[in-house]
Amino acid sequence: MSGKSGTGIVKLRWLGHAAFEVESSGGTKLLVDPFITDNPVTPEPLKRLDRYKDADKPHAILVSHSHGDHSANAKEIAKLSDAPVIGMVEYVASLELSPEQSKGGNIGGEIRVRDLSVHIVPATHSSESGSPIGFVIEFADGRTLYHTGDTWIMSDMALIEEVHHPDIVLTCAGGGPYTQNPNVAALSMKKFFKPSVIVPMHYATFPVLASEADVRAAFAGDSRAVIMKPGETKTV
Ligand SMILES: [Zn+2]
Repeated sequence: MSGKSGTGIVKLRWLGHAAFEVESSGGTKLLVDPFITDNPVTPEPLKRLDRYKDADKPHAILVSHSHGDHSANAKEIAKLSDAPVIGMVEYVASLELSPEQSKGGNIGGEIRVRDLSVHIVPATHSSESGSPIGFVIEFADGRTLYHTGDTWIMSDMALIEEVHHPDIVLTCAGGGPYTQNPNVAALSMKKFFKPSVIVPMHYATFPVLASEADVRAAFAGDSRAVIMKPGETKTV
């Protein structure tokens, strides 16, 4: 897909639910919302966490909030990989990692990781430690990727677009009792954002959530939507 100012390629691997591995064109690897070993849709080979010691060693682990379906393996992978954890300051403190591995921030904050920046943005949800957040990853060529975390459509999205103009959006579309459903997720993309790629997530993990068919129906007619399979890698 064409970038706004550069030719950088972003590699994206979906592990299912809100868990993604993101790799910049400069080789910087981020692991977002690592709910892996107990994730019913993560393919078995990808559940082996020892891969984070070498082949898939992240440069940082990003956690949107404390709930287990986003944070379950964060501490264990931090210990295995020595990677710092980026998240809300109260959540990161609760992990009791070393100061070098504790990269807590707050809404509006920016944390540099090698050739990219991680910006912390609001999310409308809950968390046991600090506020829930989303992330905007800003790559060296100026392209940006927005991982919404768990959120309901919110008017702050207009400001996220104005400030960060995301080119790639990984949007929560899970429905059920806890998050916005696929139709509302699709509305939030139409109403607030102008990305070239939209990847719906946080669905079909558990029976209570929206199915892939629900997501396909909600995003039908939006040619920007890319429906991934857990374990799949795409370059965008
Ligand atoms: Zn969730």
